[in-house]
Amino acid sequence: MAEDQDVNLKEEIKSIFTDYVRISSYTNTVGERLVEPFLTSWFSRQNYFKERPDQWGCHSIENDPLGRHVVWGMVRGSGGDTVVMIHHYDVVEINDFETAKPFALDIGKINTEIRSMRHKFDPESIRDLDSGKWQFGRGGADMKAGGAIQLALLEHYSRQSDLMGNLIVVCLPDEENLSAGMRSAIGLLAGLKRQFSLNYLLMVNSEPHQGTDPETVVLYEGTVGKLLPVVYARGSLAHVGRIYEGLNPLHLMSELVIRTELEMALSDRIEHEVTPPPSWLFFKDTKTHYDVSIPTSVQAYMSVLTLKTNAGEFLKTLRTKAEQAFETVLHRMNRSYGQYLEATGESQKILPWSVNVKTFAEIYREAEDRSGERFTNLYQEKLEQIADAVAQGRQGLPQSSFELIAFCLEYIGDKQPLIVIGLSPPYYPDVSNYRIPHLDQQTRRLLDHIPSFCRQKFDLSCRMTKFFTGISDLSYSYLDDSAGLNRAVADNMPLWGKVYDIPFGHIREIRMPCINIGPWGKDFHKLTERVLIEDVYYRTPRLLRFVIDQLLQTSTLKGCICCLDSD
Ligand SMILES: [Zn+2]
Repeated sequence: MAEDQDVNLKEEIKSIFTDYVRISSYTNTVGERLVEPFLTSWFSRQNYFKERPDQWGCHSIENDPLGRHVVWGMVRGSGGDTVVMIHHYDVVEINDFETAKPFALDIGKINTEIRSMRHKFDPESIRDLDSGKWQFGRGGADMKAGGAIQLALLEHYSRQSDLMGNLIVVCLPDEENLSAGMRSAIGLLAGLKRQFSLNYLLMVNSEPHQGTDPETVVLYEGTVGKLLPVVYARGSLAHVGRIYEGLNPLHLMSELVIRTELEMALSDRIEHEVTPPPSWLFFKDTKTHYDVSIPTSVQAYMSVLTLKTNAGEFLKTLRTKAEQAFETVLHRMNRSYGQYLEATGESQKILPWSVNVKTFAEIYREAEDRSGERFTNLYQEKLEQIADAVAQGRQGLPQSSFELIAFCLEYIGDKQPLIVIGLSPPYYPDVSNYRIPHLDQQTRRLLDHIPSFCRQKFDLSCRMTKFFTGISDLSYSYLDDSAGLNRAVADNMPLWGKVYDIPFGHIREIRMPCINIGPWGKDFHKLTERVLIEDVYYRTPRLLRFVIDQLLQTSTLKGCICCLDSD
């Protein structure tokens, strides 16, 4: 590419980046919608898109309480081969900027103004600020820099006449929350695939990479999964004076927490990539006031990151853990009861309880079998009410899940102490190219050559890892086991269908390998969030251009991949 074109690309990235960051598109607020007029006006100004109104647009997210849209654009060349680039435009709040708050979204001024907050910086942040090599500001690294690069590249390719394929950019809201944007964009991509007979080759995200070494670029060929299992324990009520007549659900849940919290056997590993073990985020009984009885039920939820364990498999493991916990508690209670009887001189007896663990799918089916349509209608009614409460921000998702579990329990015959296991939204499946059978040869060859490109062009080494560890929209780029996964998630998530769903069918339709190629970033979501300037304007766009050129074989790029260059 000629030098003046490089200068143009840099200027275009800078202009989009500056305006993009300035928009206060805070996650899960109406502010996200402010991006829509900005992007609409950007697309309308491009001659290419002005003449092709069917190749860009705002795709509305169904049933979205905030009325948000996914904004997209497509440059078409010959044939069906297509590269899809995605980025999210929601950012986290700026309260931590304190006195520098008025400049948090101003990339022209923030590097100077944030000096007033230096006393809060760690030594590395101070060094980076003083070096002048890093752009500070909210949403710069995570991830409007990546977004600006993608849009500028779309513009660049719209002026290319010999593109052998198509390039799509999808701009997404809600990534930091429930990925409503991406889950909706799957349907959009499936529709485009059918309408234009597209063959999706690769999905590229440009989240900032989290390297630690200035000499190494880090790319991710996949993304970790995230699960939010909810557990509801029902005990048996008793006055503390007659404690052996009851079963304390706090006891049950505590035992389960001890058996799973930070349990490395529950962490996933593939070679040297390892997820942190599970941790419980919430654990509370349902008592509303003090009295001398044990609580009737306890609710808890945990966060689980995965590399290979899908939702169904994890629920199975958690069930086993819950059964073991139940057994331990019964054993402990009987031992205590025996000692108590001995102390009081009574004859030995055994407590009546037995291990009782069920999934949400099982209690739902039991209620349905027992009460039929009356139950399913009432459940739908309840779900509608909860959906309204969630939409108005009056109720959280795990809390809503507990309410629906308790609702089902009213309709089943089993009144014994019980542990119920289910899932709360969101669910992010783990994906990785290394697991895709028959990955297209051309794509694999290209990905394998990225390190030599980095060495040649930037004199940097490049580390290709299997998973991006910071949860991303790439979770919905591929589906390993559609039928099994679909059932396990849909049947065990009380809010499924009305409040939350994942279009598994559409993912199956569009599925493609993925990669994350983004600039180096640090301290996302923090005051010291920053992105490496050279990556934003120079390295990342060149690397992305290399990938796109290789896959869509533009102009001079034929022959041995090792000798290729996108200049
Ligand atoms: Zn992000």
